[in-house]
This record gives sequence, C-alpha cells and structure tokens, in this order.
Amino acid sequence: MNTDEVKETLDTYVMHTYGRYDLVIDHAHGSIVYDKEGKEYIDCVAGIAVNNIGHTHKKMTENLSKQLDKLIHVSNLYYTEEQATLAKRLVEVSPHDKVFFANSGAGANEGAIKLARKYTGKGEIIATNNSFHGRTLATITATGQPKYQKGFEPLPAGFKHVDYNDIEQMKEAISDDTAAILVEPIQGESGVRVPDEDYLPNLRKLCDENGILLIFDEVQTGYGRTGKMFASELTGTVPDITTCAKAIAGGLPMGAVLANKEIADAFEPGSHATTFGGTALVCCAANTVLDIYEEENLVKKSHDNGLYFMEKLESLKDKHDCIVDVRGHGLMVGVELNYQCGDLVSKAQENGVLINVANGSVIRFVPPLIITRDELDKVVNVIDEILP
Ligand SMILES: *Cc1c(COP(=O)(O)O)cnc(C)c1O
Repeated sequence: MNTDEVKETLDTYVMHTYGRYDLVIDHAHGSIVYDKEGKEYIDCVAGIAVNNIGHTHKKMTENLSKQLDKLIHVSNLYYTEEQATLAKRLVEVSPHDKVFFANSGAGANEGAIKLARKYTGKGEIIATNNSFHGRTLATITATGQPKYQKGFEPLPAGFKHVDYNDIEQMKEAISDDTAAILVEPIQGESGVRVPDEDYLPNLRKLCDENGILLIFDEVQTGYGRTGKMFASELTGTVPDITTCAKAIAGGLPMGAVLANKEIADAFEPGSHATTFGGTALVCCAANTVLDIYEEENLVKKSHDNGLYFMEKLESLKDKHDCIVDVRGHGLMVGVELNYQCGDLVSKAQENGVLINVANGSVIRFVPPLIITRDELDKVVNVIDEILP
C-alpha cells in the first residue's frame, strides 16, 4: 500500500475513535521513526511514553526472536520461567512485595481498584480532577474528566473527585466508606502537572491517619520516565499499591499491579484473572527491558538528560513570550504556552520532530530514554523555529 492507501484503508475499516496525525510510520530505530518515503523524525512521543528503550533495540529483537521459537503463550493455568523471572525482578525494582500482571494501564488500574475494595471491604475511591486512568468503565469513572464519561452512562458507583494538589479538599472528601485515594504522582494527560513537593507525602499521612490505601497510578510516570524508577521515589512517598504499564515491555502490551504482601493477599485464587496477563513472550520482552535499563543506565540518563533538556527549553523563554512554564521531571517534560497550540504538532512534524499536545496548550515531550543530547538539541532548535 502507498501512504494514501494506508490512510484510506484505516479510515474505512477501523472504528473512528482516534484523531490520527497525518503520518504513516513505516519503520523505526532508536529515537528515530521513518515514514514510507524515508523521511526521518525524532520521536518525542515514543508511542505515548512506551518506547523507553527506543525502537527496534538489537537486544530486544534478538531475545524476542529466540523466545518466538521457544514459547509464546500458555495462560496462567501453568507456571513459566519467563513470568517467574520478571515477577521477582519487577518486585525488586519496586517498593512492593507482589505483582499481578495485566495487559494495559486501564487493566492495571481495574486490578488496583478491585484489590483496594477487596482488602478494605469498602467501596469508595477518591480520585482527582483532570486525572487520567484509562478507558474501561471503571477507569473512565475514576478519570476526573467528564469528556471521557459522556455518553457511556450509567457509570459504576463509588468514585469521587477533588482537585489535584489540594490536600484540604482531599481531607474533606474522606468518609467511613473510603477504600483508597488514587492519584498520578505527576498528572500526564492533563499536561505534565507536577504537584507541590509536600502533596504526596501529605496524602500518605492522610491515608495512614484514616486507615485508607494510597494507590499511585504510575502507568506513565513509572519505569524511569521521571528520572527515578518510580516517581514515588521523587518525594520518598511509598504507596500501598502502584500500577504501571506503558513502558514495561518495550512496546508489547503489559500492565502490572504491585502491592505489599498483606494487601496483595486479599486476592485469592479466582479473585482476579486475565487470559493474556504475564504471557511468556511479553515477559521475555519485559525482562529484556530491565536488562537494557541496567546495561545502559537509563534511569540515570533520564534524570541527567531531562535536566539538560529542560534547561535548554527554559532558555527559549527569553525569545518566546508565549512560554508560560517549563516543567517536569526526567524525560517527562511539559512546555505550557499561553494559547491553544495544537497546530504545533504538524509544524514540528514538517520539521522532523514528533511531539504531542496535552490539554490544548501544553507541548508534552516523552521521548525514548535512550535519546541523545544531540537529538535533544535538534528538538529544541525545531521548537525554537516553530514557536511564535
Ligand atoms: C496511558 C495511561 C493509562 C491507560 O493506559 P492504557 O494502557 O491505555 O489502558 C492510565 N493511567 C495513566 C496515568 C496513563 O498515562
């Protein structure tokens, strides 16, 4: 198919739930993706914070090729070494004791909500406005953005919302039936919103005082994105349950619910399950991701190059009055402008850079963690070029 045929075919045969950018990606390597005409783009979207090890990493290709000949899937009726290895390693890099494998971020959050209710015997989950937790019925209800809920009512009961970064509102929202507080350590979809430094520690305190669980949705912030393995480490706040997904398996679908032993033990055989969870092929990919993180020091790279990148973006403020704020941690960076800047996506694309705009006015950068300073320089030059 040529470029136009690909677009036409997708628009005809796939349900129209996505407003896609005008680009057919053909292949990719490292931090660079290529269209069908061979034009190069520096990828600051990374499959929405997924391709942290970059595209088509040689080690991933080799390990997956071998795994394809060995075992792909057998279900959780059986034990596999691939899942055993991953479970141990994932728990060791997290602040938790046990893991449940899901297939997506929404699936991981569903698991966390079920676990919190089962453990506490209570129903209410308090989440925050402008959050994002996924697209299943429970997770759109947890998501504090009415636009994702509209048309899908009736919504499941037991969810409440308060403003993010407002500890007083959270305090007031707690009731006798509160099972858990669910927050992103940094809000991603709503424009890389970093809370005050004491917000998450204060939530921890509030949960301890009231005997309720603290769930961190680290689907986007986890896995080195913020310069720490988990964003909870940024403020030394240990949640009771952490969910992650996006980057875990290098682009193959996987989610995970991580919890401390006492809470995790509320799940017993039959409580929760999924056919594809922790399948051998995806576990092999996830193990390879952790190998590459260790070998290439990607969490530290995210931290160091994130600082470098933000400093360069910050320096654009002098020339461009439209920049209101540059914020983030590691390689999760938002540049807020004083206008609705959706048109920048196609302008950046014309100049060979893929970006994404969150919440209308925030340019969101979530590049592969392997991105080089040279590539980041080029990105900053393009942003400089296209900003008014
Ligand atoms: C992307 C995202 C999700 C949803 O993940 P899916 O894999 O799309 O279901 C949930 N929470 C956060 C914070 C996310 O960024």
